[in-house]
Amino acid sequence: MEEMATRTLSQFRNEPTADFSLPENRRAMEEALAKVRFEFGREYLLRISGEWISTGDKLVSVNPSNTREVVGVHHKATPALANRAVESAYAAFSQWSRTPAEERVRLLLEASRILRARKMEFDAWLVYEAGKTWPEADADVSEAIDFCEYYAREMERLSGPQPVVQLPGEQDEMIYIPLGVGVVIPPWNFPLAILVGMSAATLVTGNTAILKPSSETPTIAAKFADVLLEAGFPESCFTLLTGSGAAVGDVLVEHPKTRFIAFTGSRDVGLRINELAAKHRPGQIWIKRVIAEMGGKDAIIVDGDADVDKAVDGVLASAFGYQGQKCSACSRAIVHRAVYDQFVEKLAAKARNIKVGPSDDPGNYMGPVISAGARKTILQYIETGKQEGRLVAGDGAAPESGYFILPTIIADVEPGARVFQEEIFGPVLAVTKARDFEHALEMANDSQYGLTGAVFSNDPEHLRQAKERFHVGNLYFNRKCTGAMVGAHPFGGFNMSGTDSKAGGPDYLLLFLQAKSVATRV
Ligand code: NAD
Repeated sequence: MEEMATRTLSQFRNEPTADFSLPENRRAMEEALAKVRFEFGREYLLRISGEWISTGDKLVSVNPSNTREVVGVHHKATPALANRAVESAYAAFSQWSRTPAEERVRLLLEASRILRARKMEFDAWLVYEAGKTWPEADADVSEAIDFCEYYAREMERLSGPQPVVQLPGEQDEMIYIPLGVGVVIPPWNFPLAILVGMSAATLVTGNTAILKPSSETPTIAAKFADVLLEAGFPESCFTLLTGSGAAVGDVLVEHPKTRFIAFTGSRDVGLRINELAAKHRPGQIWIKRVIAEMGGKDAIIVDGDADVDKAVDGVLASAFGYQGQKCSACSRAIVHRAVYDQFVEKLAAKARNIKVGPSDDPGNYMGPVISAGARKTILQYIETGKQEGRLVAGDGAAPESGYFILPTIIADVEPGARVFQEEIFGPVLAVTKARDFEHALEMANDSQYGLTGAVFSNDPEHLRQAKERFHVGNLYFNRKCTGAMVGAHPFGGFNMSGTDSKAGGPDYLLLFLQAKSVATRV
């Protein structure tokens, strides 16, 4: 890896999100939605290191707001093709890893420029394939751009001289080199941002990448693969392998030439990947690295002296933004008994006013959940919740042509309840009463997960205690617990929420590199 003599890039700044109250932005978005609609139903091939492949076995991606609409048709990979993908990525590694870091950084910034130029078009794909509302889609695309910009700067920093002690009579250096073939497995809920973040980190550090997108959002991934090619990334350095995770995932993870896996998704799949990757295979000459970011059961504590209206708004946005389908979503509100009744009443009233409907209509605050399977699971949890607490808002599916569910609140839930402990990943919030702040903190930590959390309080001593003892990777005070910003809020959780990789922070790229010490006697 070649050294960059000086740092040349400007300071990182977050990409602004579009203000859709402006008529010109509304118009641009409407045009983008129409343009994307025109491409509905197109067929997409697999790409293995530059080779286009059709398998005939197809995956159909539909619009969750209107399931009669086919967004894209994708060829599914087979286990044999997954093996071939790893072999090709392995063959391409020697050249890509020796491409100067400066050049890789340049290509990533070019990808970022293309994403920015087509921002509304990507927003529109997210509206139609992932069911995101306009602002949620735009935040996802902005975050994807942020990851490119941030990791480009991080690579510039890491490819420069590192601070090691100089011994007398020696020139001492430490350089970062790439690992090898990386398998990138993102979830569907940030179908652009997380895919781009993990792919950008893999490629800019000099690794070759196999991108295995979620079967729910393959079209967005195909569009991003186009961006990589257009930016000038050599076609040999990455593969787009669409297909069922279960069918090809194990092959990619188990292959002896796979060097690392960058995964974001559910706890059970993450644990399986970790287990399979740990087993040594014949011919394998390294211990595989697993970066696994997994689920959450995120709590917001509302203290006895909190501003209840602000807390209601924070909880509402965190619980029901993108239909509660964020790993950072608030699914437990733990409320001090002094304000409990008032809080529940105000929250339920506001939740009942939330408009649910097709995500391409900007009048709707909530769109659909991702799939029929997700809807079924969430509805079952609502039934369980009705046994475990008092239903105060929502109850079941909204009658529409897509996978809609009303924002649902179950009050008076005890900490042992399933809806308090299990990740539901939908618009369902459990509310629990706390005797005092200590009790609230205890209940917030009563979870196998530890991803995000928030506290609404005006008591500095309580906030100090939460900072010390609320065991989550991303903690927020007097604000919502979703919406982590690249650079400001490095993201990743504790315990069953994963390996705490801190995406969008200064530690992240190190997970994709290994350090080499070189000492020269002078
Ligand atoms: P999922 O675990 O079902 O799927 C994630 C990815 O793994 C998909 O690409 C899927 O195709 C693939 N996969 C499935 N089986 C596989 C196997 N056997 N081998 C390899 N790959 C396999 O998760 P999802 O439903 O896509 O996403 C929702 C989950 O992701 C939630 O649990 C959410 O909390 C979590 N999530 C976590 C973070 C975070 O940063 N911690 C961020 C977003 C989402």
